[in-house]
Amino acid sequence: MWASTRTVSLQGAVGHVIEVQVDISQGQIATNLVGRADASINEARDRCRSAIHNSGFDWPTSRRITILLSPADLPKRGPHFDLAIAVAVLASREVEFPGGALDGVVLIGELTLDGRLRCVPGVLPMVMAAAARGITRVVVPEPQVGEAALVTGVEVYGARSLAQVVALLGGAEEIPEAPPVEPPTGERLLSWRGEARLEEVDLREVHGMVDARYALEVAAVGGHHLMLTGPKGAGKTTLAERLPTILPDLRPDESLELTAIHSLCGGLPPGAQVLTRPPFRAPHHSVSRAGILGGGSGRVHPGEVSKAHLGVLFLDEFPLLPSDVIEALRQPLESGEITIARGDEDATFPAAGMVVLACSPCPCGEYHPYSRDNPCTCGEVRRREYRRKISGPIADRIDITRFVEPAKPHEVDDRLGAPEASAAVLERVEVARRRQRARYADLPWRLNAHVPGPLLRDRWPLDGAAARRLDQEVYGGRLTRRGATRVHRVSWSVADLRGLVRPGLAELEVALRLRSATPLDLDMIGGAA
Ligand SMILES: [Zn+2]
Repeated sequence: MWASTRTVSLQGAVGHVIEVQVDISQGQIATNLVGRADASINEARDRCRSAIHNSGFDWPTSRRITILLSPADLPKRGPHFDLAIAVAVLASREVEFPGGALDGVVLIGELTLDGRLRCVPGVLPMVMAAAARGITRVVVPEPQVGEAALVTGVEVYGARSLAQVVALLGGAEEIPEAPPVEPPTGERLLSWRGEARLEEVDLREVHGMVDARYALEVAAVGGHHLMLTGPKGAGKTTLAERLPTILPDLRPDESLELTAIHSLCGGLPPGAQVLTRPPFRAPHHSVSRAGILGGGSGRVHPGEVSKAHLGVLFLDEFPLLPSDVIEALRQPLESGEITIARGDEDATFPAAGMVVLACSPCPCGEYHPYSRDNPCTCGEVRRREYRRKISGPIADRIDITRFVEPAKPHEVDDRLGAPEASAAVLERVEVARRRQRARYADLPWRLNAHVPGPLLRDRWPLDGAAARRLDQEVYGGRLTRRGATRVHRVSWSVADLRGLVRPGLAELEVALRLRSATPLDLDMIGGAA
């Protein structure tokens, strides 16, 4: 006697449809689970046995039960396999389902010993994976119906208990009663201060700082990483917080991708909608390694770098982060994803947010490099040590570096009127991003920062004079090869902002200055537009 059902296994944020085959035969009495299952799935045997008993069915005790999970080579994790296993066991002997009732349906849910369903994290990416494989029907714990239904083209059924699922799939007229299921306890999403707070901030409140504001705009255009240095109170946080206000809304596929990451962090609260705005995450430097990068005991959780996917990850006072965390940030900075190595499996999560690093010129934050009288008490040795953490492999992966100084008194003069608002800047960013989308239409990348260097040099080179000037920087040892690629990308963002068909010497000059923390001349800002 034999039956099969389907569920989804997650590797990081990527789901794979798994077939659960159950064979019940005469022979030595045993229950065998075959196919790279982790401990939580092995425990499914006991949970399923109790759940089946307590739902009024019989577990085939005097038989040999083989549960096969395929494809066999994929590692499988999580208690959400319970439902698919229990239904397959019942279908192979105890319950007769109408023909085809189990085909093309994915079952997701953990079982309690008394046969009720329990919510599980990651329902959204599981349903996305199922839909991508042509699955049209899914069964999930009742509170997670809304989350599953965010994926279009899939019929979603919610259930509270195993008995309800059996009745549902069996086409029963009456669905048995069951007490409600606890909703998932996922964290409140969006941002450290709540979305409302971030919607209130605006570049209108940032007086002066013309140079830093322009850097923010170029970064927003091409999705470039940014480093802000400057004394305490100079306005680094103020600037970083306002970066999301000049980023366009997420596109539908991006919304789903980002929401799926939050689904992995413990499930979406009932009634949650897809996230349509780029997130802003600002973890404190004392957050654990797993908190920033992802990991944790048991199931692998996405970290802050992934929660900031397609938005902004702001790391204030980042030299105070542990050195190994700073080192590990190289991967997301370079590739837009992060891999967490874990025993027999690697979990990869997307992490393509813009990274904004902020630091003071010294540990106490009072050092003013261009000033003669300095209240800094750190001493040159500590200052140098601190700066060493800022430079090196991380700095090489940052596209734009700015020294931020507090606005000067004449810049905050009320008679000058309010500075330009975020909405006006956002309009320019959107136009410049449309140019990129048109240019990269046949490619998987949308932003200058993400296009691979060789492809960019090959298909979208700088003009002759600019290319020669960039080569000089490399041969002169003032720029690494990786640095040159990043300058090339920023040149394109400057050109896109200026509405040019190709970056020339002027755009390259701006990009070089943005990279090297050299202040821009006023006539460079706004440029040819
Ligand atoms: Zn100091």
